[in-house]
Amino acid sequence: MIEIVERDRCIGCDLCIDVCPTRVFDRGPDGIPVIARQVNCQTCFQCEAYCPTDALFVAPLVTAVAPGSRFHDVRELEESGQLGRYRRELGWGRGRSLGARTAVGPEYPD
Ligand code: SF4
Ligand code: SF4
Repeated sequence: MIEIVERDRCIGCDLCIDVCPTRVFDRGPDGIPVIARQVNCQTCFQCEAYCPTDALFVAPLVTAVAPGSRFHDVRELEESGQLGRYRRELGWGRGRSLGARTAVGPEYPD
């Protein structure tokens, strides 16, 4: 479930608002998306995949985490590489290798 929009990273591109299938986000008055309908989140990771600055964190859970959870600790998530991890695993973003290529095993040779 979506838990974090990291303001310091967000550039207000609206991609997360556009790709979310269940309209979880609203654009805030300063252009930064706000999580307006968290309960609608389907944990599909599309917003995290599309965010160009790795500003979003979708926890791998189908319910919201409790206050004080480590999944709300932005610094820890940054240090452990969790912010934008799904996008990175997909290989989306400049300078990355597509995950679909690196995931190919011996049963699917080039
Ligand atoms: S994980 Fe999917 S449903 Fe949840 S906020 Fe992101 S795009 Fe929307
Ligand atoms: S996709 Fe990322 S950078 Fe763009 S508005 Fe959403 S959180 Fe901000």
